[in-house]
Amino acid sequence: MRLARVLLALFLMTPALADAQIDPQAIKPGRDPKQLLDSAYTKKIKEYTTETFFLSPLVDYMPAAKGVPTPMATLGDIAGAPTKLPYSHEVYDYMRLLAKSVPKRVRTWNIGKTEEGRDHIAVAIGSDALMAKYEENKAKLAKLGDPRTINFDDAQAAKLVQEAVPVYYITGTIHSTEAGSPTALMELAYRLAVDESPYVKNIRDHVITVITPVVEVDGRDKMVDLYNWKVAHPGDVPPNLSYWGKYVAHDNNRDAMGMTLALSRNVLNAYLDTKAIVLHDLHESVAYLYDNTIGDGPYNSWLDPILTNEWQMIGWNNVQEMTRLGMPGVFAFGSFDTWSPGYLMFMAATHNGISRLYETFGNGGTAETVERTLGAAETARTWFKQNPPLPRVRWSLRNNNNYQQTGLLVSLAYMANNRTTFLQNFWQKSKRSINKPKMEGPAAYVLPANDPRLGAQADLLKVMQYQHVEISRATAAFTVQVPVRRAAGGRGGRGGDSAVTPATPTAPVLPQTEAREFPAGSYLIRMDQPYSRIADALLDYQYWAPNDPQRNPYDDTGWTFPEGFGTAAIRVTDLKALDVPVERVTGTITAPGGVTGSGSVFAINHNSDNALVALRYRFKSADFQAAEEPFDASGQKFNRGSFIIRGVARADLDKATKEMGLKAVALAAAPSVKTHPLRAARVAIMHTWATTQTEGWWRQAFDVVGVPFDYISTQDIAKTANLNAKWDVIVFGPGIGGQAVIDGLPMYRNAMPFKNTPETPNLPTWSQTDDQRPGLGWNGLEMLRTFVKNGGVLITANQSADFAVQFGLTNGVSSNSAAARSVVGSYLRSRIVDGTSPIAYGMKDSLALYSDDGGSFSVSNTRGGGRGGGGGRGGPAARETGRGTSDERDQVQGFPQLEARFLLIPAPTVQPWEYGPVTDDMMRSPLNIIPPDQRPRVIARWGDLNGLLVSGLLAGGGDIAQRPVVVDVPLEKGHVVLFANNPIWRGSTLGSYFFVFNAILNHDNLNAGRKIDAK
Ligand SMILES: [Zn+2]
Repeated sequence: MRLARVLLALFLMTPALADAQIDPQAIKPGRDPKQLLDSAYTKKIKEYTTETFFLSPLVDYMPAAKGVPTPMATLGDIAGAPTKLPYSHEVYDYMRLLAKSVPKRVRTWNIGKTEEGRDHIAVAIGSDALMAKYEENKAKLAKLGDPRTINFDDAQAAKLVQEAVPVYYITGTIHSTEAGSPTALMELAYRLAVDESPYVKNIRDHVITVITPVVEVDGRDKMVDLYNWKVAHPGDVPPNLSYWGKYVAHDNNRDAMGMTLALSRNVLNAYLDTKAIVLHDLHESVAYLYDNTIGDGPYNSWLDPILTNEWQMIGWNNVQEMTRLGMPGVFAFGSFDTWSPGYLMFMAATHNGISRLYETFGNGGTAETVERTLGAAETARTWFKQNPPLPRVRWSLRNNNNYQQTGLLVSLAYMANNRTTFLQNFWQKSKRSINKPKMEGPAAYVLPANDPRLGAQADLLKVMQYQHVEISRATAAFTVQVPVRRAAGGRGGRGGDSAVTPATPTAPVLPQTEAREFPAGSYLIRMDQPYSRIADALLDYQYWAPNDPQRNPYDDTGWTFPEGFGTAAIRVTDLKALDVPVERVTGTITAPGGVTGSGSVFAINHNSDNALVALRYRFKSADFQAAEEPFDASGQKFNRGSFIIRGVARADLDKATKEMGLKAVALAAAPSVKTHPLRAARVAIMHTWATTQTEGWWRQAFDVVGVPFDYISTQDIAKTANLNAKWDVIVFGPGIGGQAVIDGLPMYRNAMPFKNTPETPNLPTWSQTDDQRPGLGWNGLEMLRTFVKNGGVLITANQSADFAVQFGLTNGVSSNSAAARSVVGSYLRSRIVDGTSPIAYGMKDSLALYSDDGGSFSVSNTRGGGRGGGGGRGGPAARETGRGTSDERDQVQGFPQLEARFLLIPAPTVQPWEYGPVTDDMMRSPLNIIPPDQRPRVIARWGDLNGLLVSGLLAGGGDIAQRPVVVDVPLEKGHVVLFANNPIWRGSTLGSYFFVFNAILNHDNLNAGRKIDAK
């Protein structure tokens, strides 16, 4: 019966059915001879293409259409001309002009704004018939995308699959130095709108193409400024593109998990709003067209294999069709693993669509035609690259545009010809996402209402909302079976302070479960929803086997968001979780806040919720004190470091804490606990002109959380007479270290201005220089040292921490590198060593910290940094060869047995995160012994080897475990704070931000709680 209905549906097909009978393979690429040719444009295509085999019959001509301007109208030349990179507004002008000229086929709209206030746009193109039914088609796709709306009715879905057409979303130039796609997309839009060739008409009639021609809009306009500067200054070295977006550069394509950037949120919103089933992102760093749709292993574990099989179909078809067209250097497969879901294209993969990415060959931010040479690895003929790129060619922007357009047209044609297959898959993937609880599981994740860090929980839920994940809240307490939490040493006990995973994984076992009750108000992320996969991917744990055949992870191997946020999300497979009475949650999620109790003194527990630092800055003139010990008040427990506030009107504090999700308790009198002031420190974030990206994530976090700062460069240090008069804290984020910080860029040639001028009007006013080349300089280093000696605090991480160590700012510390590739962007367990340090106030013990490469420190009580306990491991000294058993002493024959007074006093055990005591022997030559109050103070260390790995890859780890990771190093009156982890990374480590904020708020009291060695 059901089959009959499907057949009937097929029979009664809409117009699409009629031409579905045409053999798609019969539609050959090539122009319609009946359509007029734009011969001037066509001539230029051939002129700017450097070899005939870099053209295809799809783009070797330009059709003319009466009343419809080609890109020439805006560009003054053709797309891909060697003289022109258009600004975003020029690209938009053309797209809008096209829409005005062919209104029945093309429409444009704004999809949001960038951080710097520029527009993001989308352009949709389809036949008159398709565009007339755009909304109707969207409604059909929406039903296929959410099977709940049609009761999982396969027959109705089959009908919709026949009636609807797919939407294919293409995104250009997310990477600003990969600058060719906007012109390719302008021309592609024109072709899709007017070309009457059977090949393009078939696409237009069966696919709606949506284009966002410029994804990184802020970076695009800066890039074009610098390209124009280069043209105006022939022979000069052009300035570096130091900033793309406001915060990050290349990493804008690693934000599809944290969704911290406007471009990520705007593109995902547009992708989901148009009901697209493909997101195809254009890049330009591999010759000549690398379709990395197929990628390499390991594949991301949370994706439906239906999708990963689609990758194979689409990718190999792409290679096959372009091979037919005679274009060399087109390949799929290759080195890119698809493990991390952080890429823009992955928004489709994690939302039941199809992710695609092209690397074509760009000339690096110029329109000029240049000679390009390739290495042997790139030109070798391999099984997946049968027609490899050539060792030496002249390469033009037009060549690049030819490849981009040809690849896209081939892809769109494949989508048109196989639309029912892909729409059927879309339906099935959506259905399987909703069926997740009953199939692979889990049923839900529970975020308990009694989590000690509800601010972090709200932040995590905000990420879920950006991802369009449905969130529910329990209206009553409930009990479900959860995995048993094990003590240290057990397997997989997670989400609690005892959470530990063993260094050597055991064979998988079914987890034991226990009943656990969760209070009313707990949040549930139910997995019976269309976008369950992205929620599962972000909330679950990752394990990258050290012996995985993929030796070069392409990006981070772990990302477990609840661990990085320092909050709990419990994975529940018990289907009873779906019976819990809940309400759907929409709108802004904030932790509960406000003032309770009575009195004029207010206490707020320090639980390292990031809103705490923002509160301090919001009431800058109020008196904030930090409690140096835990205390009880009003029947509540307050952690060490908790805030005691005076001089704020209750109503004002109530309003602020409600907004910010903080709970304040009014007290009649301040608790009798030792306190010191928490000041709204004057902060500078310092960058180099060599790289600004990794510190960009720090800047962004400060802006998002609400910590004001001045933004300065290393060049500003030497120019500032008295650093201490301006700032209390200088934050030197990660990115670059070594001599390059001092030297800057090579001074051989011309000055490289990075400045907002009429010549470069899109460069930012918030970070400028007349010359990018000079670095900190030796004078700057001395001034930085003086700043710290006079009481300033310098905060450093990774490379900048190594810099501080290397250039003598941190006596008694050395940096350790772990063995290569033992850690690649993993989360590792840490332990607090000195909880009395203000830097540790409110921090969760056993927090998971992000580690790029397994770096750590060693500490010592002697100058020069040498190894302390970390170097002296290995147990008791082995005895020499001689009489007796292994634990006995040798005995010289004919000499008395040695009395105790002749024997060595056993050395105390020194842990890898410690240094040993100063001995009398050492004091005989005390020159290098650091005075007790100037010795490094270890705040946190990496966890024990057993349980060190939280998420991602850890191979070995003996050279990481237990070593210091957060160290406070006094330097006369001030401090240098060192992080071997990166506490602020891609919006995914909110749980470790407060190490940094604590150092800022307590900048003039970092010695609080310190135990000074006796000698
Ligand atoms: Zn790229």
